[in-house]
Amino acid sequence: MTALSLERLRRDGEIFMTEISREYYLAHSGQKPTAELQPIYAKYESVLGPESLALTLDAFRRAAEGSEERRGARLLVDWQAESQSARQLAGLDEREIDWEGAAIVNVADGRNIEYQAAAIEISNATDRAERLRIEKARAELVARELAPMRRERFQREREITEELELASNYNATFELLSGVSLSALRAECEAFLRDTQAMWDDTLPNFLKRGLGIAPGEATRGDALALFRAREFDRHFPPTAMEDSITGQVREMGVDPLADGRIILDTGEREGKRSRAFCSAVRVPQEVYLVLRPHGGQTDWNTFLHELGHALHFAYMRPTLPFEYRWLGDNSITEGYAMLFDHLMQDAGWLTRYTALGAPAVSTFLRSGGFEELHFLRRYCAKLIYETQLYGGDVPWDALPDLYVDRLTTATTFRYNHADAFVDVDPRYYAARYLRAWQLQALITETLIGRYDTDWWRNPRAGPWIVDELFGEGQRELAHEQAQRVAGKSLSFAPLVRSIEALLG
Ligand SMILES: [Zn+2]
Repeated sequence: MTALSLERLRRDGEIFMTEISREYYLAHSGQKPTAELQPIYAKYESVLGPESLALTLDAFRRAAEGSEERRGARLLVDWQAESQSARQLAGLDEREIDWEGAAIVNVADGRNIEYQAAAIEISNATDRAERLRIEKARAELVARELAPMRRERFQREREITEELELASNYNATFELLSGVSLSALRAECEAFLRDTQAMWDDTLPNFLKRGLGIAPGEATRGDALALFRAREFDRHFPPTAMEDSITGQVREMGVDPLADGRIILDTGEREGKRSRAFCSAVRVPQEVYLVLRPHGGQTDWNTFLHELGHALHFAYMRPTLPFEYRWLGDNSITEGYAMLFDHLMQDAGWLTRYTALGAPAVSTFLRSGGFEELHFLRRYCAKLIYETQLYGGDVPWDALPDLYVDRLTTATTFRYNHADAFVDVDPRYYAARYLRAWQLQALITETLIGRYDTDWWRNPRAGPWIVDELFGEGQRELAHEQAQRVAGKSLSFAPLVRSIEALLG
C-alpha cells in the first residue's frame, strides 16, 4: 500500500467524491430507488479515516499564516472533519433518503400525496381549506417519522464534530475550518431584522390581502408557500420557452450555456425525483447535471436560473486547479453565482427581453419580487440565528422546537410548525453560505453594471470576464475575499436593503 500523502489524498479523494456525487445524483433524480452510500464510504475508508484527518491537520498547523499552503490545507481539514461525520452519519442519511422517497401524506379528504410532492401541492392549492388540510397532514407525518430521524442526525453530528477537539465546541470548529465568523454574521442578521421590521410591517398586509385574502394574524407557513407561488404571473413564464430563452441569454453574454456538453440538463418529470431542484457536479469540470422537477410558471424559471449559475461555475472551473479549489471551499461563492443568475428575475430589462411580461406587468412583478426578497432574507436571518442555537449546545434539544417556531414566526409573521424544527435546517450552516452569497451577488451585480452597463447580461464581453475572473477560480477564495478583489468592498446587507427599497418603489 502506498504511504498516505497529501498528493494521494487529493487523487483518491477526487475519485471518492465523484462516486458519492454520482450516487446522490442518481437517487435524488429518481433514477435509483435508494442511495447506497455506506459501501462507498467503506471502499474509501483510507481516504476518510482519522489518519487522513491527522495528515491534513498537520499540514494546516505547519503552513505559515496567509500562505497558499495554509489556504489549501484549511479546505482539506474542513473536508476531512466533515467526512468524519458524513461517514458515520451515512446510515442515518440513507434511512432519511429512503423515507423521503417512499413516504405518503394521507390527507383528511382521502387523498394520498407523495411526500416529495407535498410542498408543490400546498403551494398550488388555491382553496385555503384544502391547503391547510394538506399542510396539517404533512406536519403530522413529519413530526411522527422524519423529525426524530433528523433530530438524531443533528445530535450525532454535533457530538462527532466536538469529539474531534479541533476547537472548544461545534460553532468554534465551524469558524476555524470555514474562515467565516458566525458571531459577526449573526449580529448582522439581528440588525437586518431590526432595520427592516417597519418595511416588513408596511408591506406584508397588502400582499397577503391581495394574494390570499387573509390578514397577517392568521397566515401560516403553508400560506407563505402559496403566496410566493405567485400564480398570477405564470402565464408570462411559459414552460416551453424557459430553456431556450435562458440559454439564449447566456449565449448572448458570450458563454456556451451547456459548456461544450459538460453540462447535462435533466429537467423532465420523473417519479421519485426530488421536488427541490439541484445541481450535481459528478466530475469537475467535465460532468455536471442540472436537475429540476417542473412545478410550472415563474418558480421554474427562477430555479433554472439559480441551478444554471451553479452548473456554469462547476463546468467552467479551470481543470488545472488543485482538487480542493474545485471540489471544496466556501460555498458562498457558488451560491453567489447561482444568485447572480436568479436575481436576473429582478431586472426590468432582462424580464422585458427574455420573458412574456409586458411593461405594465414588469413593475407589478418587480414589487412582488422585492416583497419576496425581503421575506426570504428575513426567513434566512431567523434560520441562521436559530441554527447557531441548535448547534450551540446551550439550549436543550427538547426546547428547540418552541424556539424555532418563535424565531421564524416573529421574523416572517407566518406561523411556523414545531414539526419542522429539525427538518427546516440546512446542515453545517448552509444558511450562512446563502446569506453571504446574497451579499456577494449584490456586489458582483454592481461590478458588472459598472464594467458592462445595465444590460451586462447580453454584453458579449461580460460572459468571458465572468468565466475568467469568477467561475475559473473555482472556490479558492472566501466570499469576503472575492468581494474585496472584485468590488473593492466588504460584504454587507446594505446593498440588498437598497435594492429591496428600489423594487418596492
Ligand atoms: Zn444553490
